[in-house]
Amino acid sequence: MLKRTKTEVEGYLHDVSPVKEAAERKSKYFTASLQEATKNSRVVIFDVQRHHLFTSAQNDRTPVKLTDVVFSPSRQKKGETDILVNQGTSFTCARKLDFAFDLCSETIILHQTLQSILHEPREYQRVNITVKLLCLTEQTESMTRRFKKMERRCYDVADETGGISLTVWGPEALTVGKWYKVTNTSVRLFGSCFCLSTSPESHITMVPDVADEVAQIVSNYKTTQGEVVTADVNIEYLCPKQHSLTSVNASTLMTRCQQCSAFCRTSKISSVYRAKVSLQDKCGTITTFMIEDIVLRTLLNVPKGTTVETDTLVGKLFADENSLLQVKYRGQRVMSAEFVALECETTHEPSTSTTPTTTAAREVTDDMSDTLMLEELFEEDTKERASDPQNEQALKQGEQKINKATLFTKGTIAASKQPQKSLSADNAINHRSDADKTKTSAGSDKTSSVSAEPSAKHLKKTQGNNNVKANKKNP
Ligand SMILES: [Zn+2]
Repeated sequence: MLKRTKTEVEGYLHDVSPVKEAAERKSKYFTASLQEATKNSRVVIFDVQRHHLFTSAQNDRTPVKLTDVVFSPSRQKKGETDILVNQGTSFTCARKLDFAFDLCSETIILHQTLQSILHEPREYQRVNITVKLLCLTEQTESMTRRFKKMERRCYDVADETGGISLTVWGPEALTVGKWYKVTNTSVRLFGSCFCLSTSPESHITMVPDVADEVAQIVSNYKTTQGEVVTADVNIEYLCPKQHSLTSVNASTLMTRCQQCSAFCRTSKISSVYRAKVSLQDKCGTITTFMIEDIVLRTLLNVPKGTTVETDTLVGKLFADENSLLQVKYRGQRVMSAEFVALECETTHEPSTSTTPTTTAAREVTDDMSDTLMLEELFEEDTKERASDPQNEQALKQGEQKINKATLFTKGTIAASKQPQKSLSADNAINHRSDADKTKTSAGSDKTSSVSAEPSAKHLKKTQGNNNVKANKKNP
Protein backbone atom coordinates (compact mmCIF):
# COMPACT_ATOMS: atom_id res chain seq x y z
CA MET A 1 0.00 0.00 0.00
CA LEU A 2 1.23 3.44 -0.87
CA LYS A 3 1.28 5.84 1.96
CA ARG A 4 -0.71 8.88 1.11
CA THR A 5 1.41 12.02 1.34
CA LYS A 6 0.35 13.90 4.38
CA THR A 7 -0.66 17.37 3.35
CA GLU A 8 -1.73 18.75 6.65
CA VAL A 9 -0.40 21.79 8.44
CA GLU A 10 -1.12 23.27 11.84
CA GLY A 11 -0.43 26.61 13.34
CA TYR A 12 -1.58 30.15 13.95
CA LEU A 13 -2.54 32.62 11.25
CA HIS A 14 -0.94 36.02 10.89
CA ASP A 15 -0.95 38.74 8.25
CA VAL A 16 -4.21 37.78 6.52
CA SER A 17 -4.32 40.05 3.46
CA PRO A 18 -7.33 41.60 1.76
CA VAL A 19 -8.75 39.60 -1.17
CA LYS A 20 -6.74 40.29 -4.31
CA GLU A 21 -7.47 39.58 -7.93
CA ALA A 22 -5.00 37.98 -10.30
CA ALA A 23 -5.75 39.68 -13.58
CA GLU A 24 -4.44 37.04 -15.93
CA ARG A 25 -6.62 34.23 -14.67
CA LYS A 26 -9.45 36.37 -13.36
CA SER A 27 -9.08 34.46 -10.12
CA LYS A 28 -9.23 35.84 -6.63
CA TYR A 29 -7.02 34.96 -3.71
CA PHE A 30 -5.62 36.25 -0.47
CA THR A 31 -2.50 35.45 1.48
CA ALA A 32 -1.58 34.80 5.10
CA SER A 33 1.33 33.68 7.15
CA LEU A 34 1.10 30.43 9.07
CA GLN A 35 3.13 30.19 12.24
CA GLU A 36 4.03 26.51 12.47
CA ALA A 37 6.00 24.78 15.21
CA THR A 38 9.39 25.42 13.65
CA LYS A 39 8.84 28.01 10.91
CA ASN A 40 6.51 30.51 9.37
CA SER A 41 5.07 29.68 5.94
CA ARG A 42 3.30 31.79 3.39
CA VAL A 43 -0.23 30.62 2.65
CA VAL A 44 -2.06 31.49 -0.55
CA ILE A 45 -5.80 30.95 -0.30
CA PHE A 46 -7.80 30.67 -3.52
CA ASP A 47 -11.05 29.85 -1.76
CA VAL A 48 -11.88 33.47 -1.00
CA GLN A 49 -15.25 32.50 0.49
CA ARG A 50 -13.30 31.64 3.60
CA HIS A 51 -11.65 35.04 3.98
CA HIS A 52 -13.70 35.85 7.07
CA LEU A 53 -12.76 32.49 8.61
CA PHE A 54 -9.09 33.23 8.22
CA THR A 55 -9.51 36.77 9.47
CA SER A 56 -11.33 35.70 12.62
CA ALA A 57 -8.86 32.90 13.25
CA GLN A 58 -6.12 35.48 13.11
CA ASN A 59 -7.92 37.91 15.39
CA ASP A 60 -8.89 35.19 17.86
CA ARG A 61 -5.46 33.56 17.69
CA THR A 62 -7.20 30.28 16.99
CA PRO A 63 -4.96 27.28 16.40
CA VAL A 64 -5.93 25.98 12.96
CA LYS A 65 -5.45 22.78 11.03
CA LEU A 66 -5.47 22.84 7.22
CA THR A 67 -5.90 19.44 5.59
CA ASP A 68 -5.31 18.60 1.92
CA VAL A 69 -3.25 21.64 1.12
CA VAL A 70 -0.89 21.83 -1.85
CA PHE A 71 2.77 22.67 -1.42
CA SER A 72 4.37 24.84 -4.05
CA PRO A 73 7.83 26.40 -4.33
CA SER A 74 7.69 29.91 -2.95
CA ARG A 75 7.66 32.79 -5.40
CA GLN A 76 9.02 35.09 -2.74
CA LYS A 77 11.75 33.13 -1.04
CA LYS A 78 14.00 30.67 -2.74
CA GLY A 79 14.08 27.27 -1.10
CA GLU A 80 10.88 27.85 0.84
CA THR A 81 7.48 26.39 0.21
CA ASP A 82 4.15 28.14 -0.09
CA ILE A 83 1.02 26.44 1.18
CA LEU A 84 -1.85 26.62 -1.28
CA VAL A 85 -5.41 26.39 -0.01
CA ASN A 86 -8.26 25.67 -2.42
CA GLN A 87 -11.83 24.47 -2.17
CA GLY A 88 -10.70 20.91 -1.47
CA THR A 89 -8.80 21.98 1.61
CA SER A 90 -10.50 21.58 4.93
CA PHE A 91 -10.14 24.22 7.60
CA THR A 92 -10.63 23.11 11.19
CA CYS A 93 -9.71 24.41 14.57
CA ALA A 94 -6.90 22.38 16.03
CA ARG A 95 -7.72 21.34 19.59
CA LYS A 96 -4.47 22.43 21.02
CA LEU A 97 -1.01 23.15 19.75
CA ASP A 98 2.09 22.60 21.84
CA PHE A 99 3.39 26.03 20.92
CA ALA A 100 1.96 29.48 21.61
CA PHE A 101 0.68 32.24 19.37
CA ASP A 102 3.75 34.32 18.65
CA LEU A 103 3.19 37.97 19.42
CA CYS A 104 6.46 38.80 17.72
CA SER A 105 5.45 37.12 14.51
CA GLU A 106 5.05 39.22 11.43
CA THR A 107 1.71 40.63 12.55
CA ILE A 108 3.62 42.87 14.85
CA ILE A 109 6.11 44.87 12.91
CA LEU A 110 8.90 46.34 14.89
CA HIS A 111 9.95 49.92 14.75
CA GLN A 112 13.62 49.87 13.86
CA THR A 113 16.47 52.23 13.28
CA LEU A 114 18.08 52.16 9.86
CA GLN A 115 21.28 50.97 11.45
CA SER A 116 19.60 47.92 12.92
CA ILE A 117 17.94 47.13 9.60
CA LEU A 118 21.21 47.44 7.70
CA HIS A 119 23.17 45.59 10.35
CA GLU A 120 21.31 42.39 9.66
CA PRO A 121 19.21 42.92 6.57
CA ARG A 122 16.70 40.25 5.65
CA GLU A 123 14.94 40.62 2.35
CA TYR A 124 11.13 40.91 2.57
CA GLN A 125 11.36 41.70 6.27
CA ARG A 126 8.67 44.23 7.20
CA VAL A 127 9.70 47.15 9.36
CA ASN A 128 8.43 50.48 10.63
CA ILE A 129 10.77 53.43 10.40
CA THR A 130 10.88 57.12 11.25
CA VAL A 131 13.11 58.99 8.83
CA LYS A 132 13.92 62.34 7.35
CA LEU A 133 13.55 62.73 3.58
CA LEU A 134 16.84 64.03 2.22
CA CYS A 135 16.15 64.13 -1.49
CA LEU A 136 14.16 62.70 -4.33
CA THR A 137 16.49 60.53 -6.39
CA GLU A 138 14.18 58.98 -8.92
CA GLN A 139 10.68 59.37 -10.22
CA THR A 140 9.30 56.93 -12.74
CA GLU A 141 6.25 55.10 -13.85
CA SER A 142 6.69 51.39 -13.69
CA MET A 143 4.61 48.99 -15.61
CA THR A 144 3.78 45.46 -14.61
CA ARG A 145 3.82 42.65 -17.11
CA ARG A 146 0.09 43.04 -17.23
CA PHE A 147 0.55 46.70 -17.96
CA LYS A 148 -0.69 48.24 -14.82
CA LYS A 149 1.04 51.54 -14.43
CA MET A 150 2.26 52.67 -11.04
CA GLU A 151 4.19 55.75 -10.15
CA ARG A 152 7.20 55.27 -7.95
CA ARG A 153 9.48 57.71 -6.28
CA CYS A 154 12.78 56.92 -4.63
CA TYR A 155 14.02 59.06 -1.81
CA ASP A 156 17.24 59.07 0.11
CA VAL A 157 16.13 58.93 3.74
CA ALA A 158 18.04 58.88 6.98
CA ASP A 159 17.61 58.79 10.71
CA GLU A 160 20.22 59.44 13.36
CA THR A 161 21.77 56.01 12.85
CA GLY A 162 21.89 55.43 9.12
CA GLY A 163 20.70 56.21 5.62
CA ILE A 164 18.89 54.16 2.98
CA SER A 165 16.91 54.50 -0.23
CA LEU A 166 13.14 54.34 0.21
CA THR A 167 10.83 53.57 -2.72
CA VAL A 168 7.34 54.98 -2.36
CA TRP A 169 4.65 53.62 -4.68
CA GLY A 170 1.68 55.74 -5.64
CA PRO A 171 0.87 59.13 -7.08
CA GLU A 172 1.62 61.25 -4.04
CA ALA A 173 4.87 63.10 -3.52
CA LEU A 174 6.35 63.61 -0.07
CA THR A 175 8.12 66.72 1.14
CA VAL A 176 11.89 66.69 1.22
CA GLY A 177 13.30 67.93 4.51
CA LYS A 178 10.41 66.57 6.57
CA TRP A 179 10.30 63.59 8.89
CA TYR A 180 7.92 60.74 8.22
CA LYS A 181 6.86 57.66 10.06
CA VAL A 182 6.51 54.85 7.53
CA THR A 183 4.94 51.58 8.64
CA ASN A 184 5.07 48.19 7.01
CA THR A 185 7.90 48.88 4.61
CA SER A 186 9.57 45.93 2.99
CA VAL A 187 13.32 45.36 2.91
CA ARG A 188 14.45 44.76 -0.68
CA LEU A 189 17.75 43.98 -2.33
CA PHE A 190 18.78 45.84 -5.47
CA GLY A 191 22.15 45.02 -6.92
CA SER A 192 24.23 44.78 -3.81
CA CYS A 193 22.24 47.37 -1.90
CA PHE A 194 19.46 46.96 0.55
CA CYS A 195 16.59 49.39 0.11
CA LEU A 196 13.17 49.87 1.62
CA SER A 197 9.92 49.90 -0.31
CA THR A 198 6.38 50.74 0.72
CA SER A 199 3.74 48.03 0.49
CA PRO A 200 -0.03 48.37 0.05
CA GLU A 201 -0.28 48.05 3.83
CA SER A 202 2.09 50.95 4.45
CA HIS A 203 0.99 54.11 6.20
CA ILE A 204 3.03 57.26 5.81
CA THR A 205 2.58 60.00 8.37
CA MET A 206 4.44 63.26 8.63
CA VAL A 207 5.83 63.66 12.15
CA PRO A 208 7.54 66.51 14.00
CA ASP A 209 11.29 66.70 13.48
CA VAL A 210 13.05 64.01 15.46
CA ALA A 211 16.64 65.24 15.35
CA ASP A 212 18.72 68.08 14.01
CA GLU A 213 21.41 65.88 12.55
CA VAL A 214 20.94 62.71 10.58
CA ALA A 215 23.42 60.16 9.35
CA GLN A 216 25.06 60.70 6.01
CA ILE A 217 23.34 58.84 3.25
CA VAL A 218 25.38 56.19 1.54
CA SER A 219 24.54 56.60 -2.09
CA ASN A 220 23.33 53.41 -3.70
CA TYR A 221 23.33 54.61 -7.26
CA LYS A 222 26.23 55.49 -9.45
CA THR A 223 26.96 57.89 -12.24
CA THR A 224 29.02 57.18 -15.29
CA GLN A 225 29.45 58.59 -18.76
CA GLY A 226 30.63 57.17 -22.02
CA GLU A 227 30.22 57.00 -25.73
CA VAL A 228 27.18 55.18 -27.03
CA VAL A 229 28.60 52.15 -28.83
CA THR A 230 25.51 49.98 -29.24
CA ALA A 231 21.84 50.87 -28.94
CA ASP A 232 18.53 49.19 -29.53
CA VAL A 233 15.06 50.54 -28.93
CA ASN A 234 11.98 48.36 -28.59
CA ILE A 235 8.45 49.60 -28.76
CA GLU A 236 5.37 48.12 -27.17
CA TYR A 237 1.89 49.24 -28.16
CA LEU A 238 -0.92 49.50 -25.65
CA CYS A 239 -4.64 49.69 -26.30
CA PRO A 240 -6.58 52.43 -24.46
CA LYS A 241 -7.16 49.92 -21.65
CA GLN A 242 -3.43 49.28 -21.36
CA HIS A 243 -3.36 45.85 -22.96
CA SER A 244 -0.35 44.88 -25.00
CA LEU A 245 -1.01 44.72 -28.73
CA THR A 246 0.96 42.41 -30.95
CA SER A 247 0.77 44.41 -34.16
CA VAL A 248 -0.40 47.86 -35.04
CA ASN A 249 -0.75 49.48 -38.43
CA ALA A 250 -0.77 53.17 -37.67
CA SER A 251 -2.46 54.04 -40.96
CA THR A 252 -5.59 52.08 -40.13
CA LEU A 253 -8.62 53.44 -38.32
CA MET A 254 -8.97 50.61 -35.83
CA THR A 255 -6.95 47.79 -34.32
CA ARG A 256 -8.13 44.54 -32.80
CA CYS A 257 -7.28 44.00 -29.13
CA GLN A 258 -7.46 40.35 -28.10
CA GLN A 259 -7.88 41.12 -24.42
CA CYS A 260 -10.62 43.69 -24.96
CA SER A 261 -12.28 41.30 -27.43
CA ALA A 262 -12.96 44.46 -29.37
CA PHE A 263 -11.50 46.92 -31.80
CA CYS A 264 -9.98 50.10 -30.49
CA ARG A 265 -9.34 53.38 -32.25
CA THR A 266 -5.80 53.25 -33.59
CA SER A 267 -5.19 56.91 -32.72
CA LYS A 268 -5.86 56.05 -29.05
CA ILE A 269 -3.09 53.47 -28.96
CA SER A 270 -0.08 54.51 -26.95
CA SER A 271 3.51 53.41 -27.20
CA VAL A 272 6.05 52.46 -24.57
CA TYR A 273 9.75 52.45 -25.37
CA ARG A 274 12.53 50.52 -23.78
CA ALA A 275 16.12 50.99 -24.86
CA LYS A 276 19.23 48.91 -24.34
CA VAL A 277 22.34 51.03 -24.65
CA SER A 278 26.02 50.16 -24.23
CA LEU A 279 28.40 52.86 -23.15
CA GLN A 280 32.15 52.75 -23.52
CA ASP A 281 33.90 54.80 -20.89
CA LYS A 282 37.30 56.41 -21.26
CA CYS A 283 39.00 53.29 -19.93
CA GLY A 284 37.42 51.29 -22.71
CA THR A 285 35.03 49.39 -20.47
CA ILE A 286 31.67 48.72 -22.09
CA THR A 287 28.62 48.59 -19.85
CA THR A 288 25.06 47.88 -20.92
CA PHE A 289 22.11 49.78 -19.48
CA MET A 290 18.35 49.61 -19.80
CA ILE A 291 16.56 52.91 -20.30
CA GLU A 292 12.85 52.97 -19.64
CA ASP A 293 10.24 54.91 -21.56
CA ILE A 294 10.03 58.04 -19.47
CA VAL A 295 13.79 58.52 -19.19
CA LEU A 296 14.31 57.85 -22.88
CA ARG A 297 11.58 60.28 -23.92
CA THR A 298 13.11 62.98 -21.77
CA LEU A 299 16.57 62.33 -23.14
CA LEU A 300 15.51 62.31 -26.78
CA ASN A 301 12.77 64.91 -26.58
CA VAL A 302 9.91 62.65 -27.54
CA PRO A 303 6.84 63.91 -25.69
CA LYS A 304 4.56 61.40 -24.06
CA GLY A 305 1.72 60.47 -26.33
CA THR A 306 3.75 60.74 -29.50
CA THR A 307 5.27 57.85 -31.38
CA VAL A 308 8.47 57.95 -33.38
CA GLU A 309 10.07 55.13 -35.35
CA THR A 310 12.45 53.15 -33.15
CA ASP A 311 15.20 53.52 -35.78
CA THR A 312 14.88 57.27 -35.48
CA LEU A 313 15.41 57.03 -31.75
CA VAL A 314 18.44 54.81 -32.18
CA GLY A 315 19.78 57.38 -34.61
CA LYS A 316 19.23 60.13 -32.05
CA LEU A 317 21.20 58.14 -29.48
CA PHE A 318 24.16 58.00 -31.85
CA ALA A 319 23.71 61.41 -33.42
CA ASP A 320 25.99 63.71 -31.47
CA GLU A 321 29.61 62.72 -31.85
CA ASN A 322 30.79 65.47 -29.54
CA SER A 323 28.73 64.30 -26.60
CA LEU A 324 28.94 61.55 -24.08
CA LEU A 325 25.90 60.00 -22.52
CA GLN A 326 25.92 60.43 -18.78
CA VAL A 327 23.73 58.07 -16.79
CA LYS A 328 22.76 57.79 -13.16
CA TYR A 329 22.04 54.12 -12.60
CA ARG A 330 21.42 51.34 -10.16
CA GLY A 331 22.18 47.82 -11.35
CA GLN A 332 21.40 47.97 -15.03
CA ARG A 333 18.55 50.40 -14.70
CA VAL A 334 19.08 54.03 -15.66
CA MET A 335 17.41 56.54 -13.39
CA SER A 336 18.29 59.58 -15.44
CA ALA A 337 20.34 60.28 -18.52
CA GLU A 338 21.67 63.30 -20.32
CA PHE A 339 24.12 64.14 -23.04
CA VAL A 340 27.17 66.03 -21.82
CA ALA A 341 29.79 67.76 -23.92
CA LEU A 342 33.11 65.93 -24.23
CA GLU A 343 34.91 68.69 -22.30
CA CYS A 344 33.03 67.73 -19.16
CA GLU A 345 35.00 64.55 -18.96
CA THR A 346 37.22 65.97 -16.24
CA THR A 347 34.30 65.84 -13.82
CA HIS A 348 34.14 62.12 -14.39
CA GLU A 349 33.82 60.27 -11.13
CA PRO A 350 36.74 57.87 -10.77
CA SER A 351 34.86 55.47 -8.57
CA THR A 352 32.40 54.64 -11.30
CA SER A 353 34.90 53.56 -13.93
CA THR A 354 36.62 51.25 -11.52
CA THR A 355 33.36 49.66 -10.52
CA PRO A 356 33.30 46.24 -12.05
CA THR A 357 30.32 45.51 -14.19
CA THR A 358 28.05 43.12 -12.43
CA THR A 359 27.19 40.04 -14.40
CA ALA A 360 24.36 40.17 -16.85
CA ALA A 361 22.49 37.47 -15.02
CA ARG A 362 22.57 39.44 -11.84
CA GLU A 363 21.32 42.52 -13.53
CA VAL A 364 18.46 40.68 -15.12
CA THR A 365 17.54 39.35 -11.72
CA ASP A 366 17.49 42.86 -10.35
CA ASP A 367 15.22 43.96 -13.10
CA MET A 368 12.96 40.98 -12.62
CA SER A 369 12.92 41.51 -8.93
CA ASP A 370 11.67 45.00 -9.52
CA THR A 371 8.85 43.80 -11.73
CA LEU A 372 7.99 40.97 -9.42
CA MET A 373 7.89 43.29 -6.50
CA LEU A 374 5.47 45.50 -8.32
CA GLU A 375 3.35 42.51 -9.21
CA GLU A 376 3.31 41.10 -5.76
CA LEU A 377 2.55 44.38 -4.14
CA PHE A 378 -0.04 45.67 -6.52
CA GLU A 379 -1.60 42.70 -8.18
CA GLU A 380 -5.06 43.82 -7.33
CA ASP A 381 -7.04 44.43 -10.43
CA THR A 382 -8.95 47.65 -10.34
CA LYS A 383 -11.94 47.93 -12.60
CA GLU A 384 -11.13 49.17 -16.02
CA ARG A 385 -12.84 52.21 -17.41
CA ALA A 386 -12.98 52.20 -21.15
CA SER A 387 -13.51 55.91 -21.60
CA ASP A 388 -10.53 57.09 -19.61
CA PRO A 389 -7.45 58.28 -21.41
CA GLN A 390 -4.57 56.08 -20.41
CA ASN A 391 -2.81 58.47 -18.13
CA GLU A 392 -5.85 59.47 -16.25
CA GLN A 393 -6.73 55.86 -15.83
CA ALA A 394 -3.36 54.95 -14.52
CA LEU A 395 -3.49 57.81 -12.06
CA LYS A 396 -6.95 56.90 -10.94
CA GLN A 397 -5.90 53.34 -10.42
CA GLY A 398 -3.04 54.61 -8.38
CA GLU A 399 -5.30 56.83 -6.35
CA GLN A 400 -7.76 54.06 -5.76
CA LYS A 401 -4.98 51.92 -4.53
CA ILE A 402 -3.82 54.65 -2.22
CA ASN A 403 -7.28 55.20 -0.86
CA LYS A 404 -7.71 51.52 -0.26
CA ALA A 405 -4.45 51.16 1.50
CA THR A 406 -4.65 54.55 3.21
CA LEU A 407 -1.02 54.95 2.39
CA PHE A 408 -0.98 58.61 3.19
CA THR A 409 -2.40 60.85 5.78
CA LYS A 410 -4.42 63.84 4.72
CA GLY A 411 -1.48 66.08 5.31
CA THR A 412 0.65 64.24 2.87
CA ILE A 413 -2.05 63.80 0.29
CA ALA A 414 -2.22 67.56 0.10
CA ALA A 415 1.37 67.64 -1.02
CA SER A 416 1.58 67.79 -4.81
CA LYS A 417 -1.68 66.84 -6.44
CA GLN A 418 -0.15 67.13 -9.87
CA PRO A 419 1.81 64.01 -10.58
CA GLN A 420 0.94 64.17 -14.26
CA LYS A 421 2.37 67.60 -14.60
CA SER A 422 5.60 66.72 -12.94
CA LEU A 423 5.91 63.61 -15.04
CA SER A 424 5.44 65.32 -18.34
CA ALA A 425 7.54 68.33 -17.55
CA ASP A 426 10.40 68.09 -19.98
CA ASN A 427 13.00 68.24 -17.30
CA ALA A 428 11.23 66.20 -14.67
CA ILE A 429 13.78 63.48 -14.82
CA ASN A 430 16.41 65.69 -13.45
CA HIS A 431 18.62 67.68 -15.58
CA ARG A 432 18.23 69.89 -12.61
CA SER A 433 19.29 69.28 -9.09
CA ASP A 434 17.06 67.38 -6.77
CA ALA A 435 16.63 70.52 -4.79
CA ASP A 436 15.07 72.39 -7.67
CA LYS A 437 12.87 69.48 -8.47
CA THR A 438 11.63 69.24 -4.97
CA LYS A 439 10.88 72.90 -4.81
CA THR A 440 8.87 72.64 -7.98
CA SER A 441 6.75 69.77 -6.85
CA ALA A 442 6.24 71.11 -3.39
CA GLY A 443 5.71 74.61 -4.67
CA SER A 444 2.93 73.54 -7.01
CA ASP A 445 0.80 72.77 -4.04
CA LYS A 446 -1.14 75.71 -2.74
CA THR A 447 -3.15 73.75 -0.23
CA SER A 448 -0.31 72.31 1.76
CA SER A 449 0.05 73.94 5.11
CA VAL A 450 3.53 72.57 5.35
CA SER A 451 6.57 74.62 4.60
CA ALA A 452 8.01 73.31 1.38
CA GLU A 453 11.45 74.81 1.88
CA PRO A 454 13.90 71.97 2.17
CA SER A 455 16.79 72.48 4.48
CA ALA A 456 19.57 73.93 2.42
CA LYS A 457 22.14 72.32 4.64
CA HIS A 458 20.90 68.85 3.96
CA LEU A 459 20.40 69.36 0.29
CA LYS A 460 23.95 70.49 -0.06
CA LYS A 461 25.15 67.57 1.93
CA THR A 462 23.15 65.13 -0.14
CA GLN A 463 24.20 66.50 -3.47
CA GLY A 464 27.76 66.28 -2.41
CA ASN A 465 27.25 62.67 -1.67
CA ASN A 466 25.51 61.70 -4.84
CA ASN A 467 28.73 60.52 -6.31
CA VAL A 468 30.08 58.78 -3.29
CA LYS A 469 30.83 55.24 -4.17
CA ALA A 470 28.33 52.88 -2.61
CA ASN A 471 29.72 51.24 0.44
CA LYS A 472 28.75 47.66 0.47
CA LYS A 473 27.04 47.15 3.73
CA ASN A 474 26.83 43.51 3.04
CA PRO A 475 29.11 40.87 1.59
ZN1 LIG B 1 -7.42 46.09 -24.85
